[in-house]
Amino acid sequence: MNHGFTRRDWMRALGGSGLGAGLGILTTPQDVRADAMGNGPAAKIVDGKVIQPQRELAVLHRAQVLVVGGGPAGVSAAVAAARCGVKVALVERYGHFGGLWTGGLVLLVIGHLADGKTQVSQGIGEEMMKRLEKLDRGICDRGPGKNPTVDAEALKYVMVEMVTEAGIDVFLHCWGVDAIMDGNIVKGAVFESKSGRQAILADVVVDATGDGDVCGAAGAEHEQRVYHIGLPCRIGNLDRVDRSKAPKKPPQGLGHHTPIEGVNWVNMHGPDANGLDVKDLSRLELAHRKQIWKQVQKIRQTPGYEQVYLMETAPQLGVRITRVLKGVGSITHTDHKVGKTFPDVVAVGGVTSGDGARLGCNGPWQVPYGALLPRNVENLLAGGRCISFDRKMTDVVRLIPNCFTTGHAAGVAAAVSAKDRCRPRDVEIAKVQRVLREQGAYLG
Ligand SMILES: Cc1cc2nc3c(=O)[nH]c(=O)nc-3n(C[C@H](O)[C@H](O)[C@H](O)COP(=O)(O)OP(=O)(O)OC[C@H]3O[C@@H](n4cnc5c(N)ncnc54)[C@H](O)[C@@H]3O)c2cc1C
Repeated sequence: MNHGFTRRDWMRALGGSGLGAGLGILTTPQDVRADAMGNGPAAKIVDGKVIQPQRELAVLHRAQVLVVGGGPAGVSAAVAAARCGVKVALVERYGHFGGLWTGGLVLLVIGHLADGKTQVSQGIGEEMMKRLEKLDRGICDRGPGKNPTVDAEALKYVMVEMVTEAGIDVFLHCWGVDAIMDGNIVKGAVFESKSGRQAILADVVVDATGDGDVCGAAGAEHEQRVYHIGLPCRIGNLDRVDRSKAPKKPPQGLGHHTPIEGVNWVNMHGPDANGLDVKDLSRLELAHRKQIWKQVQKIRQTPGYEQVYLMETAPQLGVRITRVLKGVGSITHTDHKVGKTFPDVVAVGGVTSGDGARLGCNGPWQVPYGALLPRNVENLLAGGRCISFDRKMTDVVRLIPNCFTTGHAAGVAAAVSAKDRCRPRDVEIAKVQRVLREQGAYLG
């Protein structure tokens, strides 16, 4: 029934009488915006262009070390820095830690060995694996020469444990969108969240976004690369395959086993695309989901495999490489082949046997501190898959163990820089190396 009294009239009446606020009812577009968007005037159309007016941002938090991105590199960096006794903030755009390792369902850990036997990734990442071992179905295939596979949920839990034990200030559902600059000095970062656009100020920032988002925003020299983007998934009921009916040759796309019985994870390479282009990302999400669904239906049509089902597609698209820092130093194939050592080594990487054969060397490769340091920007370090390396080293530098060791190194260097009140490029390297060794890192 229409009483001639619209919803807007009700809102006006309640707002005008002061009742609106008490009832949580918003009256004007400005009020609505203040609540939904945090602060500031809305973007406007000026001369046919969309203009965002200048505005002051609320400071959400202050830290000595700010780590942006909570993947293998970011969590390692944050935990390592906090264990040095500095105040650390860790910001992550999703609601969990682990990055591609958990949210991307990249469950297989490879690249932790050099020469097929020496475990070069130690320290914080290795501690995660040891903690997983203590959990029922947390990890499988651990042991000399093996490539472990983790359970994503167990790993998310372990990361929460380590981050909270270290007393880190955590901001989830919070997307880093800009750097705060004073000339070429990074002073913090700007974030968007349901609370609006806010700032976190810090002495040193570690970019562990994988995509080098902070480096890009700060104007740090970098290269933008295009690489294949896939979408892993998990399939279930493999323990219910009727072997008496199943053909000798199993169907394609069954993937690899995980710590959970009957559950496999299935990797996907996908085509080359730009992981920084929202159109490419959207197109690939749609295409990959269709492909995965059809592939699993095909498996289910194979005699004996009728019970197999699609458990989960990765909530996070499998972007392998995008921005890569141009660092003061770099990891190069030439150095790897000759086994070059660096006086400022802060991590040692490994290779898989396949990559070793392709690269003509399966020995260790050292990470010089300069590979984490931008050339032209201060108070910023990179960790994980956005550090400085040449194209030939892409498939080894980006592997999970190599991301947690470079994240670990960035975290310690950031903490030393904050404590000693010097720029990251001026830290005493011997001190960084000593702290890394004390925290269990392997430096060769
Ligand atoms: C399909 C696929 C298969 C792979 N297979 C393997 C494999 O078998 N074995 C292996 O060892 N490695 C594998 N890798 C590589 C490995 O998973 C990644 O390189 C590694 O996880 C990178 O770690 P990272 O911490 O540098 O970045 P990421 O894992 O990408 O983590 C970055 C984190 O930062 C967050 N973030 C990003 N931008 C922002 C922002 N602006 N603000 C706030 N937070 C942000 C992300 O949500 C994420 O949590 C694979 C990768 C892909 C994509």
